[in-house]
Amino acid sequence: MTRPTIIAGNWKQNPSRGEGESLYRGVCEGLMARAVPPSLSVILLPPFPFLASLPPHPRVELGAQDVAVEPWGAYTGEVGAPTLREFGASHALVGHSERRTHLAESDAQIARKAKAALAAGLVPILCIGETEEERKSGVTDEVLDRQVVRVLEELPENGPLVIAYEPVWAIGAGVNATPAMAAAAHAFIRERLATLWSKERAQATPILYGGSVTAENAPELMREPEIGGVLVGGASLRPESFLAIVDAALAAAGGGKKQANSRSRAGGRS
Ligand code: PEP
Repeated sequence: MTRPTIIAGNWKQNPSRGEGESLYRGVCEGLMARAVPPSLSVILLPPFPFLASLPPHPRVELGAQDVAVEPWGAYTGEVGAPTLREFGASHALVGHSERRTHLAESDAQIARKAKAALAAGLVPILCIGETEEERKSGVTDEVLDRQVVRVLEELPENGPLVIAYEPVWAIGAGVNATPAMAAAAHAFIRERLATLWSKERAQATPILYGGSVTAENAPELMREPEIGGVLVGGASLRPESFLAIVDAALAAAGGGKKQANSRSRAGGRS
């Protein structure tokens, strides 16, 4: 079994058009200057309008930060999965904690979004993670279990999926989970996937870590075998910091941590 390593950059509600285009150019140029193997996928998740304006690039896949539950219809302000696909997205984030918190998205809604993404040919990147209070109360595994099970129940038998473990207390906080903490959560998630699906499919599913990943902590995180990539917020907004994280992934792969796999549509379609 092989799965790609994924470095994903979530631009959130940033940047301006000019800044975004220059950031994209910087990342693309940096990737062209590196020997990036097909087993490493770089996915950028900009605000929706950039999906239409950024030119396709052979080393970058684009994803949306959210996707509507319904493909089409009278849902003002929403963007459906078929439209995202038409405008160049290959992936869609679902369940980011900022949407769970600020927009009260439920597990049920997130499950429907993941299903809608798959139906249109997008790979869902399902974000899950516990709050600080939940970790302190010792219920992290229960929270992760609920968030995973609720979505998997809705998905077809064979769709690709990426999971991003993002402890809420680490997002935008300047404090990251230690590699050991992240590895323990990843191992738990993979074990649940194996029980709910199959061992093979669980092994083929990339599980990323997200939460204050920086150029400084990425090498240590990426060396951890259970961490199959990272979802990066703040540090994805400057080409140098994002490319330094790509370098950490390349170094970890060079150290023999990862096996090669096809670049196409990173998401565990093995
Ligand atoms: C995120 O946006 O998913 C994220 C992890 O942000 P940050 O890297 O800024 O913590």
